[in-house]
Formats: sequence, structure tokens, C-alpha cells
Amino acid sequence: MAVYKIVELGNEILREKAKAVPKITPNILKLLDNMAETMYGAKGVGLAAPQVGVAKRVVTVDSGKGLVGLINPEIIKFDGLETDSEGCLSVPGTIGDVDRAAMVEVKYLDRLGKEQIIKAAGLFARALQHEIDHLDGILFIDRAKNIRKIEQE
Ligand code: ZN
Repeated sequence: MAVYKIVELGNEILREKAKAVPKITPNILKLLDNMAETMYGAKGVGLAAPQVGVAKRVVTVDSGKGLVGLINPEIIKFDGLETDSEGCLSVPGTIGDVDRAAMVEVKYLDRLGKEQIIKAAGLFARALQHEIDHLDGILFIDRAKNIRKIEQE
């Protein structure tokens, strides 16, 4: 496995609409593995492929409930509203308050190409919405209020 370099604000790929994965190949599985390693290495809760320079609809999330790798994720249901502070590995040193659905249902393909549906709430739901936004070229700063700088570790 390998750790990718995380691209930051200003890189055009973060503003592109990522392409759906037509077929799950060994390269896609490698991408998922390396994204997970990159996400854990950066202490992130989620990572989207455009953040490592790959314009494909692939996301990894671990909000404390275990690793989930999602291919072609799509929000099919959402409910409620929650506002909380959010940051992004591609926008270091910055947080802001973002309104998100409190609960989402997401349809995606797993590593075997099998369709899955997960229900998520709280931080898990927030992370999924944040990462799926990345696939459409949307960054949290586009939605955030009270954007502020924080001290970096
Ligand atoms: Zn992000």
C-alpha cells in the first residue's frame, strides 16, 4: 500500500465533477486501499478520490465505526438538519459551521461490485455528505458559515 499526496485548495481537480467507476478493477481496489491508508495517516474521517488527484467517484470513510469504501456513492434519502463544525484535509487549518442532513441513506457499490445501502447519522452522515460533495467539486467552505482559522497540530 502507499500513502498519496493530498491535493489542496487551488488545485483544479477539487472543482471537477468526478467520473463514475464503470467497472471494479484491481486498480480501483488499490485506489481504495491506498486512500484508506492516506486517510488514516492524515487522521481524517473521510477522503474522496479527487483529494488524491483521481477524478473518480470513490470515497473512504471511518467515523469510528470501521472503514467503509464506497464506489459510485449516491445519497438516496436524507432527513433532519444538524449544524456542526467541519474541516477538510484539502483545506488545512480552516474550519466552518456547515448545515447537513442529520440522517442519510447512501447507495454504493462495495469492493465486490455488490450494491449496498447504508444508513448513517451524526458524524458518519456528515462525513458521507462532505465526501460525496467532493465528487461534485463542492468543498465545505462553499457551504460553511463562520469560516475560521485554527492552529495546526
Ligand atoms: Zn474534504
